[in-house]
Amino acid sequence: MTITFDQNSASSAPQPVRSPGHGDAFTDHMFTMSWNETDGWHKPGLSRLHDLTLHPGTIGLHYAQVIFEGLKAHRQADGGVAVFRPWEHARRFQRSARRLAMPELPEDVFVDSIEQLLRADQGLLSDDPSHSIYLRPLMFGADANLMLRPSHTYEYLVMAFVAGGFFGKALETVSVWVSHEHSRAIPGGTGNVKCAGNYSGSFVAQLQAQEAGCQQVVWLDPVERTWVEEMGGMNMFFVRGTGPGAEIVTPSLSGSLLPGVTRDTLLGLAEGMGYVPREEKVSLEQWRRECAEGRITEVFASGTAAVVTPVGHVKDRDGDWTIGDGTPGPVTLAMRDALVDLHHGTAPDPKGWLHRIS
Ligand SMILES: *Cc1c(COP(=O)(O)O)cnc(C)c1O
Repeated sequence: MTITFDQNSASSAPQPVRSPGHGDAFTDHMFTMSWNETDGWHKPGLSRLHDLTLHPGTIGLHYAQVIFEGLKAHRQADGGVAVFRPWEHARRFQRSARRLAMPELPEDVFVDSIEQLLRADQGLLSDDPSHSIYLRPLMFGADANLMLRPSHTYEYLVMAFVAGGFFGKALETVSVWVSHEHSRAIPGGTGNVKCAGNYSGSFVAQLQAQEAGCQQVVWLDPVERTWVEEMGGMNMFFVRGTGPGAEIVTPSLSGSLLPGVTRDTLLGLAEGMGYVPREEKVSLEQWRRECAEGRITEVFASGTAAVVTPVGHVKDRDGDWTIGDGTPGPVTLAMRDALVDLHHGTAPDPKGWLHRIS
C-alpha cells in the first residue's frame, strides 16, 4: 500500500519530548484504515493526529465492540528505534477481533501500520533510556445503527504517546488490595482478550483499592474466588526461594486472565537466567502462607505499560501482610533489568523479538 504524508508532517522537524506526561504526550500522527464487506480493509493512511467525527449511534460507543493493543518502541544503543514483539501483538489483536465478531486485521498490515507511525514520529523519542513510545492500535464497530448485532463497518487506527519511566529513581513497591466483591472476567467471557469493556468494569474495584490506601487491585478467579488471577491490567509473578534456582511462578492461563506478551517474555528470560519458570494456580491462602513461611520471597506484576512492578504489601479482609521486607527483591530487579536490556538491544535477542524501524 502507498501512503502519502500530509504537507504538515513533511515540513516539520519534530523535537524529542523531554518530559513525557502520563499518557497524554501524544505523538503528531495517526494511522487510519476502514473495513466494509465489499472492499475489505481499504483507505489506509497516515495523517496528523485529529479528532474523530462519530455519529451518536456508532455501535462501538453503545455496545463496546471495541478492541485495542498496547506495545512499545524503544531507542536502541546505536540510536535506532525498535518495537518489541509486534507480531505477537498482531496475533493477539486477531484473537480479540475474532472474540468480538470483528474482521481480523492481517498480521503484516498491523505491523506495517506500526512501522509507518513510528517512521513519522520516532523523532519525538529522546535518547533518555527511560522513555519509550507507547503505541495504541484500536478497532471499533463503526455502523450508525442501534440494532443489537455486530457492525458491518469498522475503523482501525493506531495512535501513540511518549511514555516516561522509572530509571534513575529507586524502584518502589506497590501495595495491593484484594477484591472479594468484583470479578474482572469470567470463564467463557472476554477476559482473555483485550477489549474495551473489560476495563470499564474494573474501575470501581480500582477505586476501592485506592480508598483502602493501595495502588492496585488484585483479581481472584470469579468462580471459586480462591485463585489469584491478575493485578489491575497486569500479570502476576511469585518468586519462590532466592538466587539461582529460584522458581518464577505465574498463574496458569485460566481462560479469564489475559495472556500478556510481557508474561511470556519473562517466562522465557527466567529460564536463561537460571531460574525455574512455572505456570501454576496460586491461591490467595497459599500466597499468604508461603510469604509467612518465607517460601515466597518476592512478588511482581508485568505488562507493557508498567514493565516489571514489584509488590510490597497486601491488604486483605482477612489480614494484611508484607512480602519479604517490603522492598523490591533481587530476583525482581534482575528480571526487570534483563527485560529492559532486551528492549534496548543491549542484550542478545536470539528469538528476534526486536523489530527495527528503518
Ligand atoms: C494488556 C494486559 C496485560 C499485560 O499484557 P502485555 O502484553 O504484557 O502488555 C495483563 N493483563 C491485562 C488485563 C491486560 O489488559
